[in-house]
Amino acid sequence: MTDIYAILKKYYGYDSFRNGQEEIINNILAHRDISAVMPTGAGKSICYQIPALVFDGITLVISPLISLMQDQVRALISMGVRAAYLNSSLTPRQMDMAIANARKGIYKIIYVAPERLTTDSFIDFACNQKISLIAVDEAHCISQWGHDFRPSYMQIADFIDKLPVRPVVAAFTATATKRVKNDIINNLKLQNPFTLTTGFDRKNLFFGIYKPLDKNRFILNYVSKNEDKSGIIYCATRKAVDEIAAMLIDNGYSALPYHAGMSDSDRTHNQNEFIYDRTKIIVATNAFGMGIDKPNVRYVIHNNMPQNMEEYYQQAGRAGRDGEPSECILLYSGRDVRINEYLIQKSADSENMNDEQKEEYLATELEKLKLMTFYSTSKTVCLRKRMLEYFGERFIPPCNNCSVCNGDSAENYSEHTIIRADSKKLFVDEALFERLRKQRLKLALNNGVPVYAVVSDSTLREIAAYRPRKITDLSKISGMGEEKIRRYGQIFIDVVNQYENESNF
Ligand code: ADP
Ligand code: ZN
Repeated sequence: MTDIYAILKKYYGYDSFRNGQEEIINNILAHRDISAVMPTGAGKSICYQIPALVFDGITLVISPLISLMQDQVRALISMGVRAAYLNSSLTPRQMDMAIANARKGIYKIIYVAPERLTTDSFIDFACNQKISLIAVDEAHCISQWGHDFRPSYMQIADFIDKLPVRPVVAAFTATATKRVKNDIINNLKLQNPFTLTTGFDRKNLFFGIYKPLDKNRFILNYVSKNEDKSGIIYCATRKAVDEIAAMLIDNGYSALPYHAGMSDSDRTHNQNEFIYDRTKIIVATNAFGMGIDKPNVRYVIHNNMPQNMEEYYQQAGRAGRDGEPSECILLYSGRDVRINEYLIQKSADSENMNDEQKEEYLATELEKLKLMTFYSTSKTVCLRKRMLEYFGERFIPPCNNCSVCNGDSAENYSEHTIIRADSKKLFVDEALFERLRKQRLKLALNNGVPVYAVVSDSTLREIAAYRPRKITDLSKISGMGEEKIRRYGQIFIDVVNQYENESNF
């Protein structure tokens, strides 16, 4: 039997699986198809990457998001896994090279855009190699009922039919209604799949709703208490984005705007500044976020109430993907309701609908807005309960991690900054932690990668708590797999040793 715990430790440096991971992995290893619904940050990638490492053939991961593919491949390579991606960001020459390498069996995991599955060169490659597993990421893209239908996903089943031996097929998504789930199973032609839904609850997220008299002041106050943290501030309009970004910059904070009215190059620039942690705060419209996989976002503030819970959950959910405590703050005002009503009416008028369709559209959207407003004005009912019930889950309050359960007043955010709920009760030496962070920044700059691609904050914090003095001690630290230890281990040990020596004088 394969020891999947040993693989988890060796490559990822983790000691235990999260909810659902082990079951999915074992089912894939038993050659059963999978249909899994797991919220953002639950750890879907490990579910197919570990089987990929166990199987002797190649694993194809189908993903629609170019930036996510690049992130994932970079992460795999840094763990010592041979991985590559095939998508439109490659030049034709690079594409030929990558496929030639793949034919030689150099890669264990290949991320591929769905469009690629219909090209002759790729089909020819796939038919002449052993493909053990196909993982379909963002599987809701296969459904017309989803919010993100991609016609190219409809080609996946045909592609699988062409393969000489049918691989295991595992589908993953973060959001799926019953209809979407059925479409995933039918359109991908999954065979008797093992299905699993881990639920929508994101325990590490604090949900808060406030009704400040002056939203700008609230925001200034909030960022002043969380200055070293990375955050997203969502606004309803481009104008508000520009104003709030300017206000933060005028007050000396590290912030940049992002909205559809800016040039492509400005947007890409600002987005990268944020991803690479050179800018702490991004102020954005809802144009921002698709395909952003920054795990260390510590807070998401909504300056205005979004139109519905789906949108709110998706945007707020960009906080805390790494599982660390993070905050989702919604600043409510009655005006937001009226603006959203107006926007819904406007899009009903502008889209080509007959009267009947229009009526149905208005009724649905206004009902969703009503439920969003209901959430935003909840005074006595736990916000987590409201949210989970909206998505059809039961929850028994209190959650002790929302503004209602914590007894915050409607006007005031109680004086907490984002503090780690220290489950492990670590005694972190903050000065050492700072030094380790500086060293990590250097490593990130030298390698041209974001800091989180080197190691996560929680890994550094464990180092700053346990203060390992020898490289062999590092295997006890969560997040330090063998390849990370080989690459960075001695460098971090040197920081600890130097710090200890100085402190001893
Ligand atoms: P998703 O794709 O579901 O949004 P990811 O696969 O990107 O989530 O994982 C989110 C984060 O959680 C990553 O930083 C990953 O390394 C971490 N993670 C996943 N599984 C575990 C685990 N078993 N133990 C600790 N961290 C984990
Ligand atoms: Zn609560």
